[in-house]
Amino acid sequence: LTTNNGNALNSRAPLKVAIIGGGLVGSLAALSFARRGHEVHLYEYREDIRRAELVQGRSINLALSQRGRKALAEVGLEQEVLATAIPMRGRMLHDIKGNRTVVIYDPCTNQCLYSVGRKYLNEVLLNAGEKFPNIHRHFEHKLNYVNFNEGRMEFKRAPSKEIVEDNADLIVGCDGAFSTVRQQMVRAPGFNYSQEYIEHGYLELCIPAKDGEFQMPENYLHIWPRDEFMMIALPNQDKSFTVTLSMPFKVFKTIRSSEDLLNFFHKYYADAVPLIGKERLIKDFFKSRPQHLVSVKCYPYHYGSKALILGDAAHAMVPYYGQGLNAGMEDCTLLLSLFNQPNLSTAEILEQFTELRWRDAHAICDLAMYNYVEMRDLTKRLSFRWRKWLDTQ
Ligand code: FAD
Repeated sequence: LTTNNGNALNSRAPLKVAIIGGGLVGSLAALSFARRGHEVHLYEYREDIRRAELVQGRSINLALSQRGRKALAEVGLEQEVLATAIPMRGRMLHDIKGNRTVVIYDPCTNQCLYSVGRKYLNEVLLNAGEKFPNIHRHFEHKLNYVNFNEGRMEFKRAPSKEIVEDNADLIVGCDGAFSTVRQQMVRAPGFNYSQEYIEHGYLELCIPAKDGEFQMPENYLHIWPRDEFMMIALPNQDKSFTVTLSMPFKVFKTIRSSEDLLNFFHKYYADAVPLIGKERLIKDFFKSRPQHLVSVKCYPYHYGSKALILGDAAHAMVPYYGQGLNAGMEDCTLLLSLFNQPNLSTAEILEQFTELRWRDAHAICDLAMYNYVEMRDLTKRLSFRWRKWLDTQ
């Protein structure tokens, strides 16, 4: 193990590790391997996010929980991330009449979630990697093909479309829910895989800051539960809220004009209309298309001593439990704790990783699916129960 200046204190022979995907899990995995003195090659399909003005991708901000914090603490970054994160101490439920009810997550010990910017977190992780001369970053390299037995990979570079080859002792797929590394694993005998799309899609809107201030109390995860639909909002550093509207695709399809949209919002989310602003609501709603959500389960997560998948590549889940990233980061914690055991071979480490991880990963995918119903439906009931209780106090 190393300190943050990169002096390796690793008792095992350094490996050449190729990390595919420089998202949140990939950049954390790169850092974790580099701290142990391995030669890391980080391959990312997109340009360097630190130079990108507009970040294409899912969810502008995320709820960071204990799992993610622990993984960040292990690479010395927890405090840096928390310094700019916004604590969310509970849910603030908005009923259809605009009444708000607070449900604190943990009234006893004050534990809470933190809202963090995806881009910011990715930048912190990539910047921390700059301290390590043994991390080699290759942006705009898309993995096209991988041969695990030979440890050989083929990438297409952007924008030249030039084909580049490389090889590695260990290939770690952190390439997200539609992982190319996993696609190759699926061909191996004994690899089980299932995926499920839900009928709901999501679209992101924004409640901007007003006069430089938040328009709603910022230390909450705001939820507008509406049976079949749901809207949530998480606070951002710039005092805006990122709003995620989730509903069945068939409902999205019924909203074709500005009038349809305003009628829909006035009916279901009337209190949010003045916060978002009519013009902005119309602009943001029609500028993007609702995105699909998929849940992925597989077993095993490795191929011999040669390849492994982590994060969404191994266990993408619907976002309603706020644990996708947190679970992906926890993968790194577990994997690298196994790498700390000097008597285990790489093959044994990967096998143990699968065995120690798959049940928990499958369970959290199921819990996320359960919370999909809970958040849009049960929270509504809970809010009534809670209000009744408040009325009696
Ligand atoms: P990704 O973030 O998908 O990153 C994969 C990376 O691999 C990308 O940079 C991609 O460009 C790159 N890549 C893909 N293919 C290739 C290739 N062939 N070659 C090279 N590179 C490639 N999780 C939480 O914990 N809390 C939340 O609050 C939360 N909210 C969410 C809200 C929404 C709406 C959604 C959709 C998800 C949410 N999640 C949340 C889940 C979280 O976003 C994911 O679990 C997390 O991003 C997974 O990280 P990852 O690095 O495994 O994959």
